[in-house]
Amino acid sequence: MSDKDMKQPFKQVWNNNMFILKICFSASPLYVLAFIFDILRNQILIFLEHTYGIGYVLESVEFGRPFHKVAVFIITLFILISLGMIYGAFVNQLISKKGLPKMKQKLKFMLYEKAQELDLECYDNPEYYNEFVLAVSEADKQVDRLMEFLNKIFTGLTVLITTGTYFLVKDWFSIIFVLISFILSFMLMQVFNKINFKIRLKKNPEERKRAYVNRVFYLNDYAKELRLNPDVSDKLFDKFKEANKAIYNIDKASAKKKFLISFVRDYISNDFISDVLYITYLVYKATVLNAISYSSVVILFNSFSRLKQSLRTITEIYPYASETSLYIDKIRNFLNYEPKIVSRKKLAVPETPKTFELNNISFAYKEGEKRVINNINITIKPYEKIALVGYNGAGKTTLIKLLMRLYDLQEGMISLNDINIKDYDVVQYHDYVGTVFQDYMLYAATVKENVIMDNADGVAEKPVMTALEQSGFAQRLQSFKHGLDTPLTAEFEEDGVNLSGGEAQKIAISRAFYKDSSLIILDEPSSALDPIAEYQLNQSMLEAAANKTVVFISHRLSTTRLADKIFMLENGRIIEEGSHEELLQLNGKYAEMWRVQAGQYIEV
Ligand code: ADP
Repeated sequence: MSDKDMKQPFKQVWNNNMFILKICFSASPLYVLAFIFDILRNQILIFLEHTYGIGYVLESVEFGRPFHKVAVFIITLFILISLGMIYGAFVNQLISKKGLPKMKQKLKFMLYEKAQELDLECYDNPEYYNEFVLAVSEADKQVDRLMEFLNKIFTGLTVLITTGTYFLVKDWFSIIFVLISFILSFMLMQVFNKINFKIRLKKNPEERKRAYVNRVFYLNDYAKELRLNPDVSDKLFDKFKEANKAIYNIDKASAKKKFLISFVRDYISNDFISDVLYITYLVYKATVLNAISYSSVVILFNSFSRLKQSLRTITEIYPYASETSLYIDKIRNFLNYEPKIVSRKKLAVPETPKTFELNNISFAYKEGEKRVINNINITIKPYEKIALVGYNGAGKTTLIKLLMRLYDLQEGMISLNDINIKDYDVVQYHDYVGTVFQDYMLYAATVKENVIMDNADGVAEKPVMTALEQSGFAQRLQSFKHGLDTPLTAEFEEDGVNLSGGEAQKIAISRAFYKDSSLIILDEPSSALDPIAEYQLNQSMLEAAANKTVVFISHRLSTTRLADKIFMLENGRIIEEGSHEELLQLNGKYAEMWRVQAGQYIEV
């Protein structure tokens, strides 16, 4: 990313920060207001105590103010400070513990909801995916940064107004010293922030490598394979080391530059100008010119660092806000993503099975790349049981993703009941199609919730039980002490049940029955079962789905025998079609596959 891309106009920086502020404010207005009030309260009290208060006391000693007046001043100040401290503790302990998580939750939920809307093709694009991961992982930090932004603004301004006025009254020329320090800091801080942002962007892919290795070692999914293939960890360790080295090199490359900038900022702009030059000026004014009192020398010098610090805080506000703005841009880009898979006309989807027509359809995952589906024509009549077969990579899964409208076609048309599927309401359409993938997921929730895929409160048990019976899980369910309320996976519950691959598949299949979809698509969901169990499950499933259309992919041709019609795919084309018997008679690739598989069973 060039410097030019990173420069954002003021309006954009402002809008972006206001965008997060609005989200925070709507999530917890009380916290935002209490937080700002606390900053004002704190800074005003610090001014009263350390600048005005000490000045008052020193002047009282130097010019002989009556003791009782000084005593009343000190006691009043003490009471104010005590009240302020109690309020500060209240804000920190009570409001921030509730308000801050609420604000972060609101932003996170917005992102999660959007993530659900993303087209699947976003996951195929590493650049987009990278930005998406960054937006979600940095979301919490942007809320913290916004609070820090408010802190900087209100602290800076309060100190500037209180201490600044004090300076103007006592010795206006002192402001020149403060300004020189201010301008230098401002320019250097901006350079510094840009370098940091560039470093972060460069480190991002390396950090993803580390996060990947991290996941492999803690996720359940990899545990078995890691134990059986210990050598794979060497490869992963190398990846981790490689990423660490790259991160070190990124830091090293800019270390000298960063040191030089902080040196100029901290020693020349701050220490030399403000401390050495300014104290010399004050002493000259008090002793040679006799223009200010000794107590003023002490207070001005003492408060100079506070005023200087407040201006430095103010100089930090804009670079800080523009750095935050670059991240917020990513969050907003993500939130503004317009899904492409949308309803063109929002037509109502038919309630009963209807004819699907795949008319000359072609598809490539990326425009211009090799087509993985090539001129396919298929008619699926209502209630038909259709099997898709073919070797790995033939295009079977892609074909059903298109049928489900997870991707849109580049050429041709898929119609349901003679209407292009793009014209139906997309949410209803997805409901019409009940799909079970081979890489389905079970969630850390109860059996019932895993079937209905929603909160189970108040949902009737009977249809859930029926769906589980249809998928063949009902018998296993009887062994669970808590029945449908048994938690699955041990993620949250110690007594959570871990199911075998075949059992888990049955739960996944029962989802399609529960949804009562008119079209059921099964992408090898029963592959974890042994051939006999798979055959039996498929047979009972197909019986249960008598009043539905079913499209299934299976590697096992014993199962495909149950289909009314079989389509054999190769390189994205249909090379053979017909019933099991017809295809055997054809004596082509399907028959060859059948002979190989049947041979295996006979040998066993
Ligand atoms: P099958 O289900 O028959 O094994 P797939 O439909 O999964 O085949 O894959 C067909 C082709 O599309 C393969 O060459 C595969 O590499 C490619 N492919 C699958 N998914 C993607 C994707 N998300 N992005 C790019 N190419 C993909």
